Amino acid sequence: MAPEAQGANTGNNSSSRILVIGAGAAGLVATLELVREGLDVVVYEQLKETGGVWIYTAETESDPLGVDPQRNRVHSSMYQNLRTNLPREIMGYLDFPFMAKQGRDERRFPGHEEVNLYLKDFAEHYNLLSLIEFDVEVEYVGVKGGVAAASTTENRNLKWIVRSRKVGQVDQVREEIFDGVVICNGHYAEPKVVPIPGIEGWPGLHMHSHNYRVPDPFQDKVVVIVGNANSGGDISNEVASVAKQVHICARNWPADKLSVSEGGPRKNVWHHPLVERAYENGTVKFQDGKSAIADAIIQCTGYLYAFPFLDAQELISVEDGRVSPLYKHVFIPSLAPSLSFVGLPSKVVPFPLFQAQVKWIAKVLTGKVLLPSVSVMTAEVEKLYQDLEAKGVPRYRTLTIGLDAFEYVDWLLEQCGETPAESWRKEIYLMTSVNRRVNPDYRDSWEDQELLEIANASLHELSEKLCIGLSRCSGKS
Ligand SMILES: Cc1cc2nc3c(=O)[nH]c(=O)nc-3n(C[C@H](O)[C@H](O)[C@H](O)COP(=O)(O)OP(=O)(O)OC[C@H]3O[C@@H](n4cnc5c(N)ncnc54)[C@H](O)[C@@H]3O)c2cc1C
Repeated sequence: MAPEAQGANTGNNSSSRILVIGAGAAGLVATLELVREGLDVVVYEQLKETGGVWIYTAETESDPLGVDPQRNRVHSSMYQNLRTNLPREIMGYLDFPFMAKQGRDERRFPGHEEVNLYLKDFAEHYNLLSLIEFDVEVEYVGVKGGVAAASTTENRNLKWIVRSRKVGQVDQVREEIFDGVVICNGHYAEPKVVPIPGIEGWPGLHMHSHNYRVPDPFQDKVVVIVGNANSGGDISNEVASVAKQVHICARNWPADKLSVSEGGPRKNVWHHPLVERAYENGTVKFQDGKSAIADAIIQCTGYLYAFPFLDAQELISVEDGRVSPLYKHVFIPSLAPSLSFVGLPSKVVPFPLFQAQVKWIAKVLTGKVLLPSVSVMTAEVEKLYQDLEAKGVPRYRTLTIGLDAFEYVDWLLEQCGETPAESWRKEIYLMTSVNRRVNPDYRDSWEDQELLEIANASLHELSEKLCIGLSRCSGKS
């Protein structure tokens, strides 16, 4: 059960009107859990459908690097051939299994379309669509009475001014007051770009993975890929199958893999440290002294957190990959519990983590679970930052919680009086991480079959209860 809170913030009562921003994986499960707790919920989604980042589109932004503030915006970062980097049995929400369905993409690591369909199944199963207003962009969220109203006084009941408008209708701004706002706007739409000296005069195509869709434009080209995490790995694989040469720049190559070609079927792929400089004659020089005359540079360098609608600069800082101060990565102490952020941690298993966070948020909003006092929460956040600094963890990795996410999810569930997540989730995650490192074909060959069977048995039982994908069932839970 949840520990006794001291000097707690009060939550709202069940007549509270709560806005969820975004109908991606985080916003959908937030809506479900808030409704389960009896809250009055509305969701504003700027796109025309649910799914967020999983809605693939061939459309790209007018600025391929994705930094021009005047560019047309495209939310999704999916590329055409993207398959999940997590196996489906651990990827799905905690209590809505992501099982293979006959006639659809049944692979263990399915393509993006299957994830989008799963999210649509979820929204339909729980009848969430009627709560979502599509084509509505939230432009402004601010504390009623100004941030001064959000003093450190306990037990206050903040209200939120929200301005939104129908996409394309510039003049018709709607202003409303909400008792709470749950921010689920995603963090894979605002490219993070590593500066490259000399790039202004370099004549090639400079772009970010956010605007990569297919390898075809790189046929017979020399391509520099900056970054070797998930997107960098996948995109370099695809591009290498058609390009003349691919040069992957990363900080973390082992010494024996630096400045050499991979050999074998990927003998056109070279490893380097970061780019030192780009030149007007097309040369890209790497920090190992090697260089290539390149046609394109694709930055696979990740994304920035951004809350352009949030008017609370005095109380929240989004700097160098750290959103602060955030108690348990969810609440700004002085604005808790009426403002919350879902899904900020990275290098995690996102959907179950979202669900655990929003279960907790919903319980806190209804006052069933109490938060510690503002000063206790603030002290805990400060201690976290000090501990990270003492361990030498750079600021930008504050939200990269990795394996700690499993303990974190269990902590959140415990606050809600629920049992911890099944142990096979972490075990499969660990096995997948190892397999991904050593086996380029990790999506189609694995050695954790026994665990997979345990997971499938457990998920199948749950599916039967929910009547998902079983033709003999008719009702819904
Ligand atoms: C290339 C790529 C591959 C990935 N692969 C995996 C994977 O294999 N497995 C996995 O589990 N995760 C993967 N992820 C992580 C993925 O982002 C999460 O799984 C999850 O889908 C994120 O959900 P979200 O709801 O937080 O954000 P999003 O899906 O981005 O949804 C946010 C929603 O908010 C809306 N929105 C934003 N601002 C506003 C506004 N002002 N007003 C109204 N609406 C707004 C957006 O339109 C969007 O629909 C991947 C991410 C990327 C980019």
